Amino acid sequence: MDVPVLISVVLALVVGFMGGGIVFRRRAAPVAVVPASPPATVDIPTLYQASEAIDAGLLVVDADHQILHLNRVASGIFEVDHTEAIGRTVITVARDHQVDALVDDVMHDAEPRDVVVQPPLEGRTLRVRAAAIDLAGRRVVVLIIRDITQLNALERARRDLVANVSHELRTPLASVKLLVETLQSGPPPPVAERMLGQMAHEVDAITQLVDELHELSQIESGRVALQLGPASLRATAHRALERIRPQAERKHIRCMLIIADDVPPALIDDGRIGQVLLNLLHNAVKFTAEGGTIRVSAVVLTIDQRSRAVGSDGAAVTLPAGHQSGAWALVMVDDDGIGIPERDVSRIFERFYKVDRARTRNSGGTGLGLAIAKHLVEGHGGRIWVTSREGAGSTFHFTVPLA
Ligand code: ADP
Repeated sequence: MDVPVLISVVLALVVGFMGGGIVFRRRAAPVAVVPASPPATVDIPTLYQASEAIDAGLLVVDADHQILHLNRVASGIFEVDHTEAIGRTVITVARDHQVDALVDDVMHDAEPRDVVVQPPLEGRTLRVRAAAIDLAGRRVVVLIIRDITQLNALERARRDLVANVSHELRTPLASVKLLVETLQSGPPPPVAERMLGQMAHEVDAITQLVDELHELSQIESGRVALQLGPASLRATAHRALERIRPQAERKHIRCMLIIADDVPPALIDDGRIGQVLLNLLHNAVKFTAEGGTIRVSAVVLTIDQRSRAVGSDGAAVTLPAGHQSGAWALVMVDDDGIGIPERDVSRIFERFYKVDRARTRNSGGTGLGLAIAKHLVEGHGGRIWVTSREGAGSTFHFTVPLA
């Protein structure tokens, strides 16, 4: 087979491979293109050069499953040295028996196939397309490999989002439907009035969900530009506390603001950081029993290159790994409410995540507030995390840069 023919076979493979999207369909089998009279010599170096132009891994394997050739992307995917891999069997490099079986099948009937493999313990998803070609008079299998881990994760996130949104909408919609049906039967006016109140409540819940979803999608698509400027954290926190105070007073919850006057201004979008604080305070009130206490405080942090931090009071502070160094403010919102079980702590910033739905059913909420807060804080270069003990309360921490 001459090189142009070989390249066109390879390109046809790649194009076919890329065209399938995430749904894997088997196509009719047009492959096994074998020219009638192939030239005797194959210019392997040119083949190797051509395969470097492909942004997918490429392996050429013979009938004994030995690797005749691989490109640089394949070396990277399988973390093997190019020259060391030549001559080894495909299973020792790909470390997956499905790939080995694929080579057997395609070698046997020359029908091209796709498989999606997840090599054990690697947490990766690879899509492998195989086709047989005739190379210098012997049949070989060409494997095109793509790492689709990220694509897979995105697809899963999209499916989860649709499932979560429909799940969250189903309950209030079912309730509105029931209320409408009951109203149609002409209940006494006081009952009708109460039902209309319940309908308004359910419609509010649906509106909140749609608004927060819209907000999240705006933020995630980068359409929310932060208006950064020096701002007093004390003033921002004070405004948020004033807005939450009526709800807190209804539950006789004490609100405290502990931010010293000498905390320097932070470089923030104060409207957005106010939104983060309001969200944390809203949760603090929601998940704290009557008569509890919630506090907002802030300290200045000096963070070194290894994410070690010391507060202005001299106390060491444990930060999430990889925090940027420099001078930061650490803001904390704490409550003495129901707390968060240890197993849920790492997940509550995920969209729609709620600890024990039964526990939160009556408190409303979409499970999106903390996901929005996380985006906003990270948009400032900061981090947000929580420490909590079930039954004893929670402290939400976030960092913002000083001006
Ligand atoms: P929601 O709209 O449900 O409050 P969030 O994203 O703001 O959504 O919070 C996610 C979940 O985290 C809540 O449903 C709750 O289970 C838990 N949570 C958040 N803040 C607190 C808190 N201060 N105390 C206890 N649990 C909390």
